[in-house]
Amino acid sequence: MAYKIIASACTACAACEPECPNDAIVEKNSVYAIVTDKCTECVGHFDDPQCLAACPADSIAVDKSVPRYAA
Ligand code: SF4
Ligand code: SF4
Repeated sequence: MAYKIIASACTACAACEPECPNDAIVEKNSVYAIVTDKCTECVGHFDDPQCLAACPADSIAVDKSVPRYAA
């Protein structure tokens, strides 16, 4: 499992980007995305996903297309 940014809901506010302990959030041409391979669901760093907590637009969700991260 990883988290993903729902592009249609994202306002490109950038609040999530500096919160990720794995630098998994990238911006290109003002479009933000989570690099699935780098997202560890914040396991080992924080109790809760930091990007989710930081997002004021409720535009980050679980990406159910990938398996749960195993530390
Ligand atoms: S859940 Fe954590 S590791 Fe994954 S993108 Fe969000 S802040 Fe980064
Ligand atoms: S915090 Fe939410 S609205 Fe802001 S850039 Fe990240 S995903 Fe988009």
